[in-house]
Amino acid sequence: MTDRKAELAANLAQVEERIASACAAAGRKREEVTLIVVTKTYPASDVRYLHELGVRQVAENRDQDAAPKAAACADLSLTWHFVGQLQTNKVRSVVSYADVVQSVDRTKLVTALSTAAGRDGRETGCLIQVALDAESGERGERGGVAPDGVEELAAAVESAPGLRLRGLMTVAPLAGPFAGRQRAAFDRLMEISSRLRGNHPAANMVSAGMSADLEDAVAAGATHVRVGTAVLGVRPGLG
Ligand SMILES: *Cc1c(COP(=O)(O)O)cnc(C)c1O
Repeated sequence: MTDRKAELAANLAQVEERIASACAAAGRKREEVTLIVVTKTYPASDVRYLHELGVRQVAENRDQDAAPKAAACADLSLTWHFVGQLQTNKVRSVVSYADVVQSVDRTKLVTALSTAAGRDGRETGCLIQVALDAESGERGERGGVAPDGVEELAAAVESAPGLRLRGLMTVAPLAGPFAGRQRAAFDRLMEISSRLRGNHPAANMVSAGMSADLEDAVAAGATHVRVGTAVLGVRPGLG
């Protein structure tokens, strides 16, 4: 094994251990939580090692970085998640490789995604990104729709050809009433998810928790955690 593959294997084992402990502490089955490895800023060679180590779900946040990486890994069976803020002019590219777009936060984006998915004959999974700190009618600093805008967007996705509503995603807010209170933030997301599932029972994915707070997300009930740093290392610069 190369040094890098061994390093990734050791990090993955640690993250696996954290998820397993968090599941045990919450009385949840390990299979209820899916690990998505966020490979942004890291090369396709790392994605390849991760695949050899058993990872099947990866996420990216910038199309410029993700598109060539997904192309370089097209021979691998991987589910690609797009988790970054998405401009409508990038939608066509993103839909060509992303199985799930986790950052759906406005109707204009729903329309663009539906058009692009239809053109490709694909079905793109969609998560509504919730900005827990956004005021009614506004969007979050890091993307996302305010909680009271979720149902309208969900209905738009549900009726859009080529798209499938899968659930909700959030990033714990850095500011506002939930700052530093990840568990409370993820509990709030679960309440919003319960309400959503009332109208859309199949939309049962809850994507929450990153390297620093995956335990809080698992405790609250997340079905998917998105882990970058703890598996691949600290990213140089912003990512
Ligand atoms: C980068 C990123 C992650 C992973 O964050 P880490 O702290 O590196 O684990 C998760 N979700 C989103 C939306 C991200 O952009």
